[in-house]
Amino acid sequence: MQVKDSIFEFKKVIHQFKLHGKKIAFVPTMGALHEGHLSLIKIAKQHADLVVVSIYVNPEQFGPNEDFDKYPRTLENDLQQCEDAGVDLVFTPNNEVMYGSDKKYFSIELNTLNIEMDGGSRSRFFEGIVLVVNKLFNIVEPDFAVFGQKDIQQFRVISQMVKEFNHNVELIMAPISRAEDGLALSSRNMYLSEEERILAPSLFRSLSFIKKNIVDGIYNPSLLIKHQLEELKEKGFKNDYIGVYSMEDIQPIDKLVKGNTYILAGATYIGRTRLIDNLILEL
Ligand code: AMP
Repeated sequence: MQVKDSIFEFKKVIHQFKLHGKKIAFVPTMGALHEGHLSLIKIAKQHADLVVVSIYVNPEQFGPNEDFDKYPRTLENDLQQCEDAGVDLVFTPNNEVMYGSDKKYFSIELNTLNIEMDGGSRSRFFEGIVLVVNKLFNIVEPDFAVFGQKDIQQFRVISQMVKEFNHNVELIMAPISRAEDGLALSSRNMYLSEEERILAPSLFRSLSFIKKNIVDGIYNPSLLIKHQLEELKEKGFKNDYIGVYSMEDIQPIDKLVKGNTYILAGATYIGRTRLIDNLILEL
């Protein structure tokens, strides 16, 4: 496995790969790798000859009051996991390499897709993601890129970016990897105290309960959602949102229609840790 932290050196390897006609699958990450990331790497391996992983905590997608400084950074362990998983090349740039002194001259604006869900709560979050993934796609030039359903709004935003910016890459969405009790795996789960970890699967349980009721025929789930938000609050969560959203536009939907596919998504805080999760509704 090769590890490169400069764009020049990294691209040299990529060009060798391409010279030999190899197909590349790319898995962008912020490190602190867990089974969820490894599942993406596994899917990447099934699609291409070579797997490239990037490990970079992108400051542009953190708000001023968010956890950029304390976000877990476990590079040595991450590289070992990549090696064990059969990754071919890892890109580990620093901020200077990714943005240098240029970052103030351009910004990307988003609309519609980032008004709701995490876009509504995390200022400039998706702008930061689009900026860095755009750069990474230009640097890696992958044939495939694998992203998790865990961040389903991110997937939708990036698929639109690929279309509008004409990136020649096929996107693949990987299912959510969960702990045995249902909690969606996340690098941020490292923040949870023992007590918080026990409570944390409640978000998944609430979403599953809402989904079951919707599938059973409750196509106007607002009251159901309200009750689940109240229950989470009583357990000590500080809720951000739970809602049903359209797949295409990420807009809130009150009255569901049979035959359509929706996203049932939620975000909440336990202590200072933000948890997100979602389920796809195919009615
Ligand atoms: P992150 O390092 O959190 O930026 O995540 C990197 C990639 O891993 C993103 O495409 C995430 O959606 C994906 N990912 C994170 N957690 C999970 C999970 N539990 N299951 C599947 N994919 C995940």
